[in-house]
Amino acid sequence: SQEPRRLLITGGAGFIGSNFVHHWCEHYKSDRVVVLDALTYAGNRNTLKELEGLENFRFVQGDICDRALVDNLLEEEAINTVAHFAAESHVDRSILGPDAFVRTNVVGTFTLLESFRQHWDGRGSKNSDRFLHVSTDEVYGTLGPDDHPFTETTPYAPNSPYSASKAGSDHLARAYYHTYGVPTIITNCSNNYGPYHFPEKLIPLMCINILLGKPLPVYGDGQNIRDWLYVRDHCSALDTVIHKGVPGETYNVGGNNEVKNLDLVHMLCDLMDELAPNLPVKPAKELITFVKDRPGHDRRYAIDATKIKTELGWSPSVTVEEGLRQTIEWYLTHEDWWRPLLSKEYQEYYARVYA
Ligand code: NAD
Repeated sequence: SQEPRRLLITGGAGFIGSNFVHHWCEHYKSDRVVVLDALTYAGNRNTLKELEGLENFRFVQGDICDRALVDNLLEEEAINTVAHFAAESHVDRSILGPDAFVRTNVVGTFTLLESFRQHWDGRGSKNSDRFLHVSTDEVYGTLGPDDHPFTETTPYAPNSPYSASKAGSDHLARAYYHTYGVPTIITNCSNNYGPYHFPEKLIPLMCINILLGKPLPVYGDGQNIRDWLYVRDHCSALDTVIHKGVPGETYNVGGNNEVKNLDLVHMLCDLMDELAPNLPVKPAKELITFVKDRPGHDRRYAIDATKIKTELGWSPSVTVEEGLRQTIEWYLTHEDWWRPLLSKEYQEYYARVYA
């Protein structure tokens, strides 16, 4: 009885956004999917190439800060659901150049919210309309070794320009519900990994460097803790939130998989030794090199996902071990996807971060 969803997915050519686009197109073939993505260094249209011919799929290259473009798209496509992933997402880059983070994450989110509010008012709101704002657990800051994991009521305490800009965007999404009644929902998720992850991030970086026989840079003492979630499990959580989540609410999403960075790198080395043929350096852990710590490096993140589990019935489907295996197998069979991303710009960035 419900009308088909007509989704605008921002940042759909990035890591999580593209996995979500694939998820949605596989599960809900009669829904309309419009991707808006600026194709920054982190966006890759190749990731969506199998979908380009589908009748219900459209890709638009453009900036979420472009109000006229966003207004036109919402109107022309009669959008009733926004899934907002577009962001500058890399902490190290936010330390080198915070400007783009404030622009895209804060101003861009504001632009989408404001455009959606007017469009939503104008077309007559429906109960199933949603604006899903996809965010991070990094807005909560850092945890001590014995602290309880982050819950939805943990106070915000962002420590990097990235997390501060995401915190700003979360507050706007929240305010649009409380002030205007726009049906926003916020999700704060832990670290993701999986297919289509840009090589600068920890897991693909390690896999690719192992394949190339290059040093594996580990920040500080390697004892920082992250809570890892397979990207497809994040997508199933977001699907659940769009269908069953309550507007105005926040849901934390995590896999209950706290791992120290150094232990994670060891796991990756062992799996690569087992799965990859002809590694240049074996055992791969000989490549591990400790580098100067990242400034403001949060010590520990961990998510308490009780709310989404008990209220919405979501749970992750794979363990870290299984997810890492699938991820490594994907990188081993998709060199044509990642190899071109190791561009000159990437090498320059890499040299600055691990100088
Ligand atoms: P990503 O960097 O891989 O992708 C971001 C995408 O947004 C890219 O395709 C890029 O081209 C696009 N983009 C950037 N600026 C834009 C602009 N001004 N207009 C239009 N498009 C623009 O990021 P990701 O890792 O997929 O993260 C997606 C979202 O999920 C982000 O909001 C991030 O904060 C959040 N998140 C990420 C993680 C994680 O572990 N990666 C965890 C929790 C939450």
